[in-house]
Amino acid sequence: MISLALRMCTAVAVLLLAAACQPKDLVHIPPAGQPLLVYGGPIVTMATTPIEAMLIEDGTIRALGSVDELLALAPAATQLNLAGRTAMPGFIDSHVHVRELGMDAIKADLVGTTTVDEMVERLRIKFPAPVPGVWLLGQGWDEGAFASRGYPDRAALDVAFPDNPVLLESLHGFAGFANGRALQAAAIDSSTPDPEVGQILRRQDGSASGVLLTLAQALVTRQVPPADEAQIEQAIIAGLRTMARAGVTSVHEAGMESRDVTAFMRLAERGALPIRVFGMLNGNDQQLMQHWFERGPLMRADGMLAVAAIKVFYDGSLGSRTAMLRAPYSDHPELANPTERISPVAVRALADQAAAKGFQMAVHAIGDEGNDRTLGIYEAALAPYPGKDHRWRIEHAQVVLPDYFTRVAELGVISSMQSSHAMGDSAWAENRLGSERIHYAYAWQRVLASGGRLIINSDLPGEPWTPAETLYFAVNRQKLDGTPAQGWYRDQALSVPQALHAMTLGGAYAAFQEGLTGSLVVGKAADFIVVEQNPMTMATSDLAALQVLDTYVAGSKVAGN
Ligand SMILES: [Zn+2]
Repeated sequence: MISLALRMCTAVAVLLLAAACQPKDLVHIPPAGQPLLVYGGPIVTMATTPIEAMLIEDGTIRALGSVDELLALAPAATQLNLAGRTAMPGFIDSHVHVRELGMDAIKADLVGTTTVDEMVERLRIKFPAPVPGVWLLGQGWDEGAFASRGYPDRAALDVAFPDNPVLLESLHGFAGFANGRALQAAAIDSSTPDPEVGQILRRQDGSASGVLLTLAQALVTRQVPPADEAQIEQAIIAGLRTMARAGVTSVHEAGMESRDVTAFMRLAERGALPIRVFGMLNGNDQQLMQHWFERGPLMRADGMLAVAAIKVFYDGSLGSRTAMLRAPYSDHPELANPTERISPVAVRALADQAAAKGFQMAVHAIGDEGNDRTLGIYEAALAPYPGKDHRWRIEHAQVVLPDYFTRVAELGVISSMQSSHAMGDSAWAENRLGSERIHYAYAWQRVLASGGRLIINSDLPGEPWTPAETLYFAVNRQKLDGTPAQGWYRDQALSVPQALHAMTLGGAYAAFQEGLTGSLVVGKAADFIVVEQNPMTMATSDLAALQVLDTYVAGSKVAGN
């Protein structure tokens, strides 16, 4: 461990182990301020027996101990009295799509509007001085509520925004509402036929009213230009802030496009990232990969941004029957085995380069065949580097062959799994897989039992994603409504400490940051949250309601009161 620490200190300068590095040189330092003394409630460190108080200085945990001991060290420290609430490490969500989560931030929020005038009002607030020609987007009008009293007409939108195309998505995604300029951009007029699936609603005179049902929306949405640089930055910040409020202090962004990488790097440079980001590059973009293989992994010295992994999709999903299974789908045995979404040769080439250049591989594999082949590629690419601290991972590892567990343990591959997916898929997964293979699906305890490394994350947006919900699913193997009562294949559920480990220290390790984050120990960054209840002792059936009050990154409050 020490030699590893030394190597990392000299090589990448961001990872620190107290014994080997000087933490203050490496950790993100918030504006120089007072030491902070945290006390007055349980402090879950994930590392030692409970301690009474924690002293933070320059963004780093300086000391743990009794209140008296720590006050002697820093008599003038600002005091944060937990008043019975709990402090614990911030959650690390090790598989997210935070830019997607934040994309709604560039749209006007229309939730709760009941008239077109109200929509116009919201649009005017969001876009006070729109540049002519720029698309104005909104989201959240309730198509169900409007349908019962009559769909809206675009007349008021046309009057308010004659020079800008406007497209307003509905709350549930089944309808879009466009103004005249947007319809014009999509070349929709009274002679345009309805698409095969979907409908262009019409006025009396046959002209389009602006409402587009189901797939008719695509006629307009495909005209919307991709987000510009400023919008991407705005979305990233909004997404990260949303996550910070939920108690997340680090995320792993699972697949950055070229424009995302640029945005994340610019934000990090400006000190604008509220929480830490570990980035996986989109391995399908050859130009992007060529650049990064020449450059090598990025690990910022302040620990706020790393770009050090490569993400590709080996197969599809179980729900859509595009995951690669060795034997046919149980509910559709006539289906041919789906093919790879990327050629194995291409994955092997990426893996060879990654091994040589020090990048982490993070391949999406869902089916047992997809996982088997991915693992085979990892084994072959890593064979020339015995003992290498590669920390390669498989994203999802949803259905695997029985030998998966010993192979990943031997090779040191991290299984990156989603507790929400298990619950979301539980309704039909056994239909797809049958009663035998289901025992090797979402099999978290099998990973741990064989000595494998497990991280649990959300893969947001999609399923319920807050850390509280992720934790609840992991521990209970139940949906939010408490069903099924006995838990779904509960033998694979995690204990609270196991789940918390997979959502804190596990994620830190997967980002090569276990010297910086994941637990509250002396020398690490003060990334912690204050929660209303203690997750270690509260009723497990209530975990989804764990309430996050404040979130601190490197000793600075980034969300909360
Ligand atoms: Zn994902």
